[in-house]
Amino acid sequence: CGIVGYIGHREAYPVVLKGLKRLEYRGYDSAGVAIYDGKNIKLSKTKGKVVDLENRVKDEITIDGSLAIGHTRWATHGEPNDVNSHPHYSNSGELVIIHNGIIENYEPLKLELINRGYTFHSDTDTEVLVNLIEDVKKNEDVKLGKAVQIALNQVVGAYAIAVFDKNKPDEIVVARLGSPLVIGVGEEEFFIASDASPFIEYTNNAIYLEDEEMAIVRRGKKVKVRKIKDDSLVDPYVQELQL
Ligand code: GLU
Repeated sequence: CGIVGYIGHREAYPVVLKGLKRLEYRGYDSAGVAIYDGKNIKLSKTKGKVVDLENRVKDEITIDGSLAIGHTRWATHGEPNDVNSHPHYSNSGELVIIHNGIIENYEPLKLELINRGYTFHSDTDTEVLVNLIEDVKKNEDVKLGKAVQIALNQVVGAYAIAVFDKNKPDEIVVARLGSPLVIGVGEEEFFIASDASPFIEYTNNAIYLEDEEMAIVRRGKKVKVRKIKDDSLVDPYVQELQL
């Protein structure tokens, strides 16, 4: 399983698609992408291989946009099928998430969200997380990054996630606990991936997130890293990868 993301000045989809191919060695049963052109979110996903996704994207969506996230899934909750594949939308359609790992306490969280009027389209633990983030964002009237942080503090499990918000076209929020996540830092562009192989041809500067850290990756800004638990700022160590 793997995650890939891009935000910058290039067309994002080709970068993400190539990245997903590089992560195929990690094993997976499904693949998907979400592309955001600043106006519309375009999402395509499928059970099967990255090449199946590639064919589906050709039929289903336009690929323009300089923000995209992509996922290969190794199912833990919900059988491998198109609907359970990632990315997942929140109920409003405004938030989009990809996730590797397991949300162990997804059942009580899901019941609570159902009681609050949320509906679920997939059998995944991941769809619970994206709706939890949405619920926090609305109830506490906070921005995406804060909502992700508050939500993750209610979660038991393991994750590498990337989330974006339709209202924030210049930002991807990422976090990790128990699953790898690295941010490639280019010139006015950022890459997100499970390991550096998807972006090594574009930059050799990388920030490896530690467990229990999250980062706000914003176009044209410095990456902001925080501890999920106590909200303290971390000075990110930009490592130079040896090519
Ligand atoms: N637990 C999530 C699911 O089953 C993510 C699995 C993964 O790591 O790819 O959808």
